Amino acid sequence: MHIIHSGRFSDKKILLIDKNPKHANDRTWCFWEKEKALFESIVCKQWNKLWFHGENFSGQLNIGPYQYKMIRGIDFYEYCFNVIRQQKNFDILFEEVEQVFSNNKTGVVVNGQKIFADYVFNSILFEKPKLQKNDYWMLQHFKGWVIETAENSFGENAATLMDFRTSQNSGTAFCYVLPFNSKNALVEYTLFSPQLLEQEEYDEGLRAYISDVLKISSYTILEKEFGVIPMTNFKFPAGQNNSINIGTAGGQTKGSSGYAFNFIQKHSRAIVDALMQTGKPFTGQSSSRFHFYDSVLLKVLSDNSVPGKKVFTDLFKNNPVQNVLKFLDNETSLSEELKIISSLPTLPFLKAGIRQMI
Ligand SMILES: Cc1cc2nc3c(=O)[nH]c(=O)nc-3n(C[C@H](O)[C@H](O)[C@H](O)COP(=O)(O)OP(=O)(O)OC[C@H]3O[C@@H](n4cnc5c(N)ncnc54)[C@H](O)[C@@H]3O)c2cc1C
Repeated sequence: MHIIHSGRFSDKKILLIDKNPKHANDRTWCFWEKEKALFESIVCKQWNKLWFHGENFSGQLNIGPYQYKMIRGIDFYEYCFNVIRQQKNFDILFEEVEQVFSNNKTGVVVNGQKIFADYVFNSILFEKPKLQKNDYWMLQHFKGWVIETAENSFGENAATLMDFRTSQNSGTAFCYVLPFNSKNALVEYTLFSPQLLEQEEYDEGLRAYISDVLKISSYTILEKEFGVIPMTNFKFPAGQNNSINIGTAGGQTKGSSGYAFNFIQKHSRAIVDALMQTGKPFTGQSSSRFHFYDSVLLKVLSDNSVPGKKVFTDLFKNNPVQNVLKFLDNETSLSEELKIISSLPTLPFLKAGIRQMI
C-alpha cells in the first residue's frame, strides 16, 4: 500500500503472496496518531478521550492532539485488496510460501518452485526465534467479544484503554472497552504472561468484567476474537541481503506494549522513502535506547518485581498522557524519557536496567 501510495513504482512488477485470502474479521487494530494517514478512510471509530483505571487511580484522559483510532481487520483487507487489484503491475497469488532465500539470487519457494525477484519483503515468521541471554519472551493474549445491549450502556465518546479492575492472579491482566456506539462495544480481556489460559478462563474473565465492573447483566455476543502477540526484546533480523523483513517478523511489534500497527506503517513508509531516494530499500536500525527501555520493562514484568498494574498506573498517573503516548511511540527525547522513568519505582527498574547491561 505504501508502494502504491508513493506513485513511483508503476514500472515494477510486484507479486503479493499470501496463503490466506483474508475474508475473516480476525482482528481489530487500535493505535493513536495526530495526523490523518494512509488508512484514515477505513477508521471506523476514533476517540480523543481514554479511560484508565489502575491502582487507586482512575481518570478520563484527554489525549488531544492524538486520536485513538480503530480499524476492523476485514475493512483493512477489503480496502487494500481493492486498491491492489486496480494496479496493473501487481499480481496476487494465494499460496503458501515455503521458503524465502537471498544469497546470490533472491526469491521465494512456492509449491516447490522458485520465484525470483530483485527484492522480497517478508512478513512471515517461519519459526519462533532462538532466544539468547537477557532475551525475554512473554505473551500478550486476549479474547474479545463484540456485545450488544438493549439499553444505552456505553459512553461512546471515550474508549477504555486499560482497566485493571480484574483479577491479577494469572499475570498482569486488564480489560479494554471500545464502544462503537452507546449499545455496542468490543470488550477485550488481556493478559501479559508466559502461558496461555484455557478458553473458558478468558470467557470467565470477560463475563466477570462485564457484570461486576460494567454492571451489564443482559447482552448478546455478536462477534468473538482471540489473539496472541509476542512481547519480546529479541532483536528480529532486519533481513538478509535483498530479503527485507517487515511487520512483526521485521521487529515492528513494540516489545513492552504489543502495539505494532503504527510501527509497521512507519517502517514500511521508511522503506519506500529509501527506495525513492536511494533506489534501495534499506532503512536505519531501530533505536537501541528504546530497545533498552523495552528490555527493562519486560524484565520487570516477567520477574513481577513490580506488578504490571502498578507500573502502568504510575506511568499514567504521574505523566501527561501525551508524553506517555509519545514515549510508547519511541518518539520522546532523552530529557522527556528521564522524567517518565523517574516517575516509576526506582529500585526495581534500576536493578532490571543493570541486569540488562551485564
Ligand atoms: C487479534 C490481534 C489483534 C491485534 N490488535 C492490535 C492493535 O490493536 N494494535 C496494534 O498496534 N497491534 C495489534 N496487533 C498486533 C499487530 O498489529 C498485528 O499482529 C499485525 O497484523 C501484524 O502484522 P504483520 O504483517 O506482521 O502480520 P500479519 O498481519 O499476521 O500478516 C502476515 C501474513 O502472512 C501470511 N502468511 C503467514 N505465513 C505464510 C506463509 N508461509 N505463506 C504465505 N503467507 C503466509 C498470513 O496469512 C498473513 O496474512 C494485533 C494482533 C492480533 C493477532
